[in-house]
Amino acid sequence: MNLQNLLDLKSRYPDAKLVVGNTEIGIEMRLKRIQYQVIISVGYVSDLNILAVHDDGIEIGAAIRLTELQTFLKKVIEKRPFHETSSCKALIEQLKWFAGKQIRNVASVGGNICTASPISDLNPLWMSAGAKFRIIDCKGGIRSKMAKDFFLGYRKVNLASTEILLSIHLPWTRQFEFIKEFKQAHRREDDIAIVNAGMRVFLEENNGRWFVADASIVYGGVGPVSLSALRTETFLIGKGWDKDLLQGALRILEEDIVLKENAPGGMVEFRRSLMLSFFFKFHQWICQQMN
Ligand code: FAD
Repeated sequence: MNLQNLLDLKSRYPDAKLVVGNTEIGIEMRLKRIQYQVIISVGYVSDLNILAVHDDGIEIGAAIRLTELQTFLKKVIEKRPFHETSSCKALIEQLKWFAGKQIRNVASVGGNICTASPISDLNPLWMSAGAKFRIIDCKGGIRSKMAKDFFLGYRKVNLASTEILLSIHLPWTRQFEFIKEFKQAHRREDDIAIVNAGMRVFLEENNGRWFVADASIVYGGVGPVSLSALRTETFLIGKGWDKDLLQGALRILEEDIVLKENAPGGMVEFRRSLMLSFFFKFHQWICQQMN
């Protein structure tokens, strides 16, 4: 089946579910007893299996399996200048702890994105890395949406029933732009996150000091959807990367993303402290990178 066949099928059956690894749909159908009348297997549509290196970043087809993505990113890191691949390294690290090998061998990037799970390990990274999603409709029209604007609510995404996710564009990082992944789970291997995060900062020098020119702090596992800490991001911009920034950011973070006592998922105190400790670690890590 080619892309045109898929688009024709999707216009004829707008409610059809697309399936690649079946690691989400399988659970919905077997354990949650949800019935889907029409399921379209898209794992071998070549336009959804693109892996390409461009001048401004990389393009990852929506049906690319997570193991394929790991292999590709490792090759990209070897070939490109060190500073360009901070996002690639963060993705590789996060994928190490994504489910187990069997799941990573079949599960797709697009399946993870379109499920929009609040504890997706990758969505906070796409969002903080400034990734763009390319979306195609049944007539072949393509639009792009920033990852940070794609997730609308609990398992809800900015995708009409006549649209599918085509690919992901991941930009290169600039010199002095760093991105880091975080994940805390009960077990280190093959376990879903309690809290995870993707954090990015772009530093600029002025009179021998380093200031934040841009920042993105995104958490998973602390709300119905992956959440940007918007007030914290605003606070960071223009500040010097020092101890005062750390203390100020931790104070604002506590009010920025609020986990209520009765928040679904429980372990509220633990999750609050994870949010703060991830940022603390990020601060330390950036200091090391700049040394
Ligand atoms: P599928 O089940 O095939 O599809 C999922 C959804 O995406 C469907 O609704 C489908 O219609 C839609 N879809 C797929 N492709 C497209 C497209 N191109 N356009 C539009 N819609 C599309 N997730 C984590 O983040 N971290 C973990 O550690 C983790 N561990 C797991 C462990 C286990 C044991 C299991 C079963 C799952 C785990 N998951 C985890 C969740 C899951 O593996 C991922 O979400 C996976 O990436 C989904 O991909 P898939 O190809 O299997 O999706």
